[in-house]
Formats: sequence, structure tokens, C-alpha cells
Amino acid sequence: MRPTWAEINLDSLKSNFLQVKRIIGNRVGVISIVKADAYGHGAVSVSKALIESGSDMLGVATVEEALELRESSIRAPIVLLGGIQPEEAESAIKNDLTPSIFSLASAQAINKYAEKSGKAVRYHLKVDTGMNRLGVDSGEICDFLNHISDLKNLEMEGVFTHFANADGESRDYTLNQISVFRALLSLINQSGFYPRYVHSANSAAIQRFYESHMNLVRPGIMLYGSGGIKGCELRPVMILKTKIIQIKRIPSGASVSYGGTFVATRPTIIATLPIGYADGYMRRLSNRARVSVRGTTAPVIGTVCMDLAMIDVTEVPGVEIGDEVVVFGDERVSVEDVARWADTIPYEILSTVGKRVRRVYV
Ligand SMILES: *Cc1c(COP(=O)(O)O)cnc(C)c1O
Repeated sequence: MRPTWAEINLDSLKSNFLQVKRIIGNRVGVISIVKADAYGHGAVSVSKALIESGSDMLGVATVEEALELRESSIRAPIVLLGGIQPEEAESAIKNDLTPSIFSLASAQAINKYAEKSGKAVRYHLKVDTGMNRLGVDSGEICDFLNHISDLKNLEMEGVFTHFANADGESRDYTLNQISVFRALLSLINQSGFYPRYVHSANSAAIQRFYESHMNLVRPGIMLYGSGGIKGCELRPVMILKTKIIQIKRIPSGASVSYGGTFVATRPTIIATLPIGYADGYMRRLSNRARVSVRGTTAPVIGTVCMDLAMIDVTEVPGVEIGDEVVVFGDERVSVEDVARWADTIPYEILSTVGKRVRRVYV
């Protein structure tokens, strides 16, 4: 087997879940967000571990993601955060999924299938309070509620909104979203809807805006050990590992990889790693990133290829073929470091770790 794998530590995951619980207290529930294959960690194993830890619900982006969990005998409530297309209504209902609704067309399609199968379908109403992405807008809420109250096989179980800037320096935008959300909630109540769950907080808001907790929160990135603020002890869950598969010595003046973007200025020892941009190790990391090997770090040199990347191990004493290399996730190289080198955020680094990379649960 190709020696490139992601070690997923489920104890660390559970410890991060307990950090969330510690912050929110025991009167607030948790929808653990496991979209995008649990941010690259493997949705089935992660979901099982989170449910064992006491997660009340799971949140995914798509119906396919939800079906993968149902097929693995996961019976917890699953909220479809991205809503559903009318043609997905049947499958969502058959599999007992909880759609979020923000359009009448979807609401009508769901109601139709619900009627046909003699079920009452619970949904979460998504309202837009400033993200300007998905959700019913403030100006349209009364009209929307009027129409949806005609759909007798739908039951509003929850109402939620999403923050655009909960991790931003200024708190104002989020505080304004919270007050718009509260105003919408009273309109919803005035229209005769009393949803059991009200939720808005992502990881940043869980830590920074206690007034956003309502009675359910939606942590994602903090479960995976990133995005913690000071005083919140999160542990990285994924360690991305590989092994050196070849070592060569090149003279001063020789270049490495496509385009010769690295030229040795001294006799140099190069090690080749079986990981590349098709594994999610972005080309952007060429000549920028470092990896952890034999208790020190070594720079990535030359262009990262589709399946391979090279590092300079001239200063790594005793380096050998077969040495384990940590790409990120140990105390020397973190996913935050890699995100910085790639000019992106840890979310993107974690969720794009490729399909070819085996997930190994420990
Ligand atoms: C992804 C997502 C979350 C989780 O956000 P984090 O910043 O990872 O905690 C919460 N709510 C919604 C609607 C999302 O799409």
C-alpha cells in the first residue's frame, strides 16, 4: 500500500466535543457538523464517535452525504444544511432526513411527498440575517410563513441562521445578525410557529458569542481541533503522514522538479515523498511549506507534483528511505501552518485531503 495516510485520533475528537459541551453547558444541544466527509476526517467513523459522545444531531451539506451515514446504520437526526432540490424530496423523506427549507418550491415538493407517504416531515427554517447566501430574507418572512402554513404535512422543528463574520475582529456584524434573528423569531412566533430548536452558532460564535447559543449549536472546525481561541484547549484530530521513498544527492547548480523552480546553492540531499496536489497537498505549497521529519523540519523544494513532492533533507541527521514524515498535525507543523503557507484556511486544507489518502483510525 502507498505509504501516505491520515491518522485520525478519535479520542482527540471526543475531547474537542467535550470542550464544546464545557462552553455551552448542559441545557444546550449540539448538531455536530460532518459535511464534506467530516472536514476530510471520514464522516462515518467521526459521526459514530460524536454520537457516542452525546451529539444530539448531525449536520451535512447534501443528501448524498446524509445517505452515506444512513447506509452505515446511523440513526441520529441528520439536518441537511444546504436544503434540498425538489427532485431530492422523495429520497430525503424515505431516509428520514431533516431538510432545511428556505424556498417555497422545495417546501411544496417535500409536502407533496410527505402527503403521499402519510408522514409529517420535520424541517428547519433557514433565515438570512446578513450572510446573504441561503435563507429567507427578513423582508420576505411574513409572506413565506403565510404560504408555508398551508402545507399541512410540514412541521417546523427548528429555525436557524448563519453568521458571516463570527471570527472577525469586530463584533458588530455578528451582534447585529443576532438581533435581526431575534426579531425574526418573534415574527415567526406571532405567525403561530413555535419551533423546538433555535440555532445560529458555528465554532467561532460558540466561543465568542454566548448570546448566540440559543438552545442548539453547530460546531464544525473546532471538533477537528482548529479555530480555538485562547483558553480553549483543542487537539488536532488528523495527522497527515507519509514516508520517504527515495533519497538523492545533487550538486550545487542542479534543479529540482518541473520548471526548475528550485536550484541548489550547495550539494544537497533530496528526499521524495509520495504525496502531491492530487492528494490535496496544494501546488501552492511549492518552495513554501515545511514538513516534520526526525524531530526537525525540512523545506519542500521545487514544484509539488500531482503524486509526489520533494524536500531538502541535507540538515536532517541520519535520514533514510522509509523514514516517517509528518505533513501536518504534530507539534512541529500544524494544519494552521500549512494553511498560512498556502494562503488559505485550515478548513480548506483538511477538507481537500484526497480520496487516495487512507484514513486510519486510532
Ligand atoms: C459549515 C457550517 C457550520 C460549521 O462551521 P464551523 O465554522 O466549521 O464551526 C455551521 N453551520 C452551517 C450552516 C455550516 O454550513
